Amino acid sequence: MGTAHTLPDRWRRPTYDEPVTDPYEATDPSGPGGAEPVLVSACLLGRECRYDGRHNADDALARELEQRGLRAVPFCPEEQGGLGTPRPAAWIESKDAAAVLDGGDRVVSERGRDVTAQFLAGARAALHACREHDIRRAFLKERSPSCGVCHTHVHGTLTSGPGVTAALLQRAGIAVTGVEGHRR
Ligand code: SF4
Repeated sequence: MGTAHTLPDRWRRPTYDEPVTDPYEATDPSGPGGAEPVLVSACLLGRECRYDGRHNADDALARELEQRGLRAVPFCPEEQGGLGTPRPAAWIESKDAAAVLDGGDRVVSERGRDVTAQFLAGARAALHACREHDIRRAFLKERSPSCGVCHTHVHGTLTSGPGVTAALLQRAGIAVTGVEGHRR
């Protein structure tokens, strides 16, 4: 399970009894002093929202964003799309994220459940949040079927290409940067 980090409570995953709230309810996207808001995979900020209930806290990213005067807005597409945590691992079934967005491929869990609708809902929610708050940049966790930028999982295998959320944000002109996570 995740180690303790000095992060605001609002970035952490709710307990199982709590509803998943819109992070924008608790976060002022404009930030103090009008800092530019950027979307960040919530698990990179220490929120235990990974499929296995862990996080990918990346202290180096948090420092870099602060030094650059950017305001991190945490977002987890899979939770926002309606999937609980923990949840079975999932991957793009056979092609790529573009095919999923265009209706030509699915996202399936390791148990064989079709979770395409949830992944698409999470991606659309991320784009909606970006548009709602004039977010033009995103820092996303590499290798995720949602957030991966350069690498994602297809048919259970690490594969070049973006995840579903990263692909949709890229299509919309959002600049996405992949982050591996777990840096000190
Ligand atoms: S990689 Fe993206 S979808 Fe996966 S836990 Fe992190 S924020 Fe959520």
